[in-house]
Amino acid sequence: MRLIHLNSQGASSHPPRGNRAAPSETPAFADLDLCTDLLDALRDKGYTTPTPIQAQAIPHLLEGRDLLGIAQTGTGKTAAFALPMLDLLDEHYKRPRAGRPRALVLTPTRELASQINDNFQGYGKHLNLRSTVMFGGVGQNPQVRALKQGVDILVATPGRLLDLVGQGHVNFDDVEIFVLDEADRMLDMGFLRDVRRIIGGLPRRRQSLLFSATMPKDIATLARSILHDPMRVEVTPQSTTVELIKQHICFVAKQDKSRLLKEILKDESIKRALVFSRTKHGANRIAGVLESHGVSAAPIHGNKSQGARERALASFRAGEIRVLVATDIAARGIDVRDITHVFNFDLPNEPESYVHRIGRTARAGREGVAISFCDPSERGELKDIERLTGQALEPMTVTLPEGRGESMERSGARQGGRGRSGGRGRSGGGGRSGGNARSGGARGSSSSGGGRSGSQGRSRNRRRGTSTSAPRR
Ligand code: AMP
Repeated sequence: MRLIHLNSQGASSHPPRGNRAAPSETPAFADLDLCTDLLDALRDKGYTTPTPIQAQAIPHLLEGRDLLGIAQTGTGKTAAFALPMLDLLDEHYKRPRAGRPRALVLTPTRELASQINDNFQGYGKHLNLRSTVMFGGVGQNPQVRALKQGVDILVATPGRLLDLVGQGHVNFDDVEIFVLDEADRMLDMGFLRDVRRIIGGLPRRRQSLLFSATMPKDIATLARSILHDPMRVEVTPQSTTVELIKQHICFVAKQDKSRLLKEILKDESIKRALVFSRTKHGANRIAGVLESHGVSAAPIHGNKSQGARERALASFRAGEIRVLVATDIAARGIDVRDITHVFNFDLPNEPESYVHRIGRTARAGREGVAISFCDPSERGELKDIERLTGQALEPMTVTLPEGRGESMERSGARQGGRGRSGGRGRSGGGGRSGGNARSGGARGSSSSGGGRSGSQGRSRNRRRGTSTSAPRR
């Protein structure tokens, strides 16, 4: 856990509200009414233009509205909530009391929690706000010590948070802003009961934000119960796949998948690849096979210690290992830029997971390639994916050495055969790895809000038209 002390500044850097760009324009960050301390931090990071979810959500969040954000990772959703939260907490600054955070962000995985906290740190570096992160699998004492000093923002996974609440170290009475991040993944991971317990302990008067990549029934019900007249922002609708990703399918016999992966990885344009395995054991095995063939690789999954996971991620980020082999849950929080390729060694059972997985490449507007392996037993999963994304994946043929176990053409696979033995080279189309062609325009985005107009009737929603002279410490 890290406790972040952000610098104090003198006079308020908050602009008068109400000078925002019309919704149809693509605004710059400077048009979004964020305080200059945040604009400076964004400039330092080299961010100039808000992503669609940022452009749509930030003005409404600054007004104190609740938000339902339907967005997957890679859309810039973290900054979409972190920036207005920092702005609001700073503008209405109150010294946080011991064990009583002013804002709570709940997120499903440790990696995601750390990354979110890092984002708060980066964006808030010129502000006098403290944030801290807590998750299980590590000692609780440093987390308890940080809480005692008082934190403005607490980023937590549900299990450890409930533990510390139970021990009396955390109290929610001062929570003004609550964020439930990756709600659908909370459901997948069986955390929904814990999440409900936590929400039950929050003050009723608060600003609430819920983000989810998909909207299964349970999450829609939860959203209705915790959000008050929310603004709804939807980016990259759930039924479409991220458009900047070139998607291929390789038909292959199950026992030939490792050889196929090794063969494709001979292409040096594959700089940084994330490989998805359905099981932890499979992830270990795939990483081992690659390593034994001179491809630097590491597995990352729930059976690995926190230290091992962090080391693997750090080496992957630094480019010291080329391939990270992950299970869905472990990969959830991975925010690594410049992942050039995502491989689905196994197709996921849930078609929505396919969209999550391939979304690890093509982050923040970059292009990427996704290559999925499909053995004859996985054809049902493929059909589900194609139905959900509304597009057929582009078949790709790779010839394996030794004349045995070639990846199969789609027709061969459908007949349950072992594929063509004679085919040499790649069959046109996607080829391997190289295809960075765009398959469409920029990500779509849309929004709809139930009766905006600033008349939310919540007591915190007082900021419209307020000037720079908001009270500061
Ligand atoms: P997220 O969806 O929050 O996981 O963000 C995906 C990636 O986009 C992260 O690496 C962010 O640092 C980056 N990012 C977020 N907002 C912007 C922006 N406005 N311009 C450029 N990169 C961004």
